[in-house]
Amino acid sequence: MDLTFLGASGEVTGSCYLLRTDRARVLIDCGMFQGSATADLKNRRPLGIDPATLDAVILTHAHIDHSGRLPLLTKSGFRGKVFCTPPTIPLTELLLKDAAHLQSEEADRMNRRRQRRGGPIATALFDEQDVPPLIKRLTPVTYEHETEVAPGVRVTFHDAGHILGSASLTLTISERGRTVTVVFSGDLGERNTVLLNDPVKLPRADVLVMESTYGDRDHRDLNETVAQFKQIVVNSLHAKGKVLIPAFAIGRTQTIIYYLAQMHREGLLGNAPVYIDSPMAISATRLYHSHANLFDDAAKELLRTGNNPLTLPQLRLSTSGEESRAINAVSGSAIVIAGSGMCTGGRILHHLRHNLWKPETTVIIAGFQAEGSLGRRLVNREKIVKIYGEPIMVRAKIETLGGFSAHAGQTTLVDWFAPLAPSAPRVFLTHGEQKPRQAMAAALNARFGAQPQLPMLGECVEF
Ligand code: ZN
Repeated sequence: MDLTFLGASGEVTGSCYLLRTDRARVLIDCGMFQGSATADLKNRRPLGIDPATLDAVILTHAHIDHSGRLPLLTKSGFRGKVFCTPPTIPLTELLLKDAAHLQSEEADRMNRRRQRRGGPIATALFDEQDVPPLIKRLTPVTYEHETEVAPGVRVTFHDAGHILGSASLTLTISERGRTVTVVFSGDLGERNTVLLNDPVKLPRADVLVMESTYGDRDHRDLNETVAQFKQIVVNSLHAKGKVLIPAFAIGRTQTIIYYLAQMHREGLLGNAPVYIDSPMAISATRLYHSHANLFDDAAKELLRTGNNPLTLPQLRLSTSGEESRAINAVSGSAIVIAGSGMCTGGRILHHLRHNLWKPETTVIIAGFQAEGSLGRRLVNREKIVKIYGEPIMVRAKIETLGGFSAHAGQTTLVDWFAPLAPSAPRVFLTHGEQKPRQAMAAALNARFGAQPQLPMLGECVEF
């Protein structure tokens, strides 16, 4: 049997692994490459295997860097099942439809430019019509239930505590009387993340494919971050300005609402309205509600005592563009959560345009901001930024919070590995840039004597 690394090898996006035995071909994740100059090229490159010959796909979680190339499989003849946890199905549908929409817009924009220049026509990687045929193939498997996905390949999903429905995988693979246990960490969450359980630790593996996104560092302390968040919000409400929070629709939005609901219960919020100004974040929050059986004990206890952790009396859901624009007319203090998380598009832009120049405004940056994004410019304290081509003076307070990560820091990653160490697995570190995964390899070596390998894109290993 062998394993080929078809993405997330020396980088964080494009997760995709091909497992082959003498009887089966199974793909683990089929994510999109994102962010880099070569991403589009890599997304369009054939996998090196005819999708029609795959027995099955296993999807660890809904994020686009794990699911974004799945529609290409069904477009190219894949007719098997895609196994995933129950909440991953609607979350994947939400994210893939959004990705299709964004790509069509991007292709249109490029084509307008190319028409003027006379360049070749740009096409989207996939469009909205390509999503339903894939969604039909998504097949739910609950946590901790072993399922045969292909001849001789059985999988168990374990809660990875990263986003709702995220999973680590144990694959039990039989070939010619030999059985091998292959564990995929998937994306691992940080400990004590609200709403979600801590990542499940696993007892043994012969082969381990492990993420290393933050393999070189730990996050800021969560309790300090929460205290800081609450203080910033209280101060902003006193200043009678708007609090703008750019946030990803899945995960970060729910974390923010959780703490705002907590502030409401603590009497810290007054009557200031809280807006979720994003149809996608509203849908995602509803999906979190409808899978409350997967919440951690603290969130379940809140529910049991009649305190829904994901709502508060002054929460307003803004779906239409008209409702969104109406928020500009609200005078006095208000809290607005909107996408996109890095201020690269979406409704947060028009809120920023209307409020960045006002000294009473506060912008809370609570997520990763890529180089070149408007969010990063704000973090870098640029005095004037352009929004829709218009220069806007930044007089608002820009507050950056470091402790709300959806990914485990180095200490949590090392602790997660600890129970696997005695079985001395062959370790492959992926889903991390070169520096973090080298640091992670050094940390695992120092503590356990492990000698992790750092596979490159396209590399194939036999076991
Ligand atoms: Zn993820």
